Formats: sequence, structure tokens, C-alpha cells
Amino acid sequence: MMLNAFCPCGSLLLYADCCGVYHAGVAIPSTAGTLMRSRFSAFAVQNAAYVLQSWDETTRPAAFDLTDDPTIWQALEIVKTQKGAVNDTTGLVEFKAYYTLSGEAYVLHERSRFIKRQERWFYVDGLIAVAVKNLSGVVG
Ligand SMILES: [Zn+2]
Repeated sequence: MMLNAFCPCGSLLLYADCCGVYHAGVAIPSTAGTLMRSRFSAFAVQNAAYVLQSWDETTRPAAFDLTDDPTIWQALEIVKTQKGAVNDTTGLVEFKAYYTLSGEAYVLHERSRFIKRQERWFYVDGLIAVAVKNLSGVVG
């Protein structure tokens, strides 16, 4: 990921000024939505360490590797956020993540749960997660 490229999360900010700040550990996301965006960007730039460290300890896999993952993450659309604000301790973020795999376009529609422990947000799990082929050709 070039530091002068747009952030994969779709913020229209430069990566270095957006999720790159969280990936570098310079700042921590203050809302569940921001953590969600930074996790999407981490998948996009294949930063498995960030994906792991932002995963709640109760559901975090022992190991996580994106090295040979052929998925190309294209765009993120936040559909709805419930709670997850600066003063909350739980949050729900519904999103659509657009990706391509073996030349085919897909969209993952998920509603994710987040929890805040000691002032840090973590991803817990996905309540619904449906991946279907994106036949519309519409991204984001
Ligand atoms: Zn971003």
C-alpha cells in the first residue's frame, strides 16, 4: 500500500491520514465504525497483525494469515451503525464489503458486533454474514 494512495475504506482521505494511522499504532479508533473501517483496510492491505490485534480476545483465532489470500477487497459501504459511539461500550455495524475473487465480483453483507474494553474497540463476531455474487456491477 502506497502511503500517498487513497484509503481502501472509501473515506477519500489518503491512507496515511486515515486507517494507516491506526495500522501504524499512532492512534486507536474511537468508535466501532472507525474500527470497522480500519479492519476492512487492514484486509485490503493484508495487514493480518492488525486484524488479529483488533479482534476481541473471546473470539480471536490463534493465528491469522492473509499472505496467500487471493481476495481483492474493493470497497466498503457502512449500511447502519447502532451504538458504537465514543461513549458506548458495545456497537453493531452493518456493512457491505465488495471484493473480487478469481475474477468474479462478490459482496459480503455482514452485521458485526463490537465491544470496548479499556478504552479500545474490538471486533467480536458477525451476527449475519452472507456473501453473494455481485451481479449488479455496482461497487460501494
Ligand atoms: Zn480509512
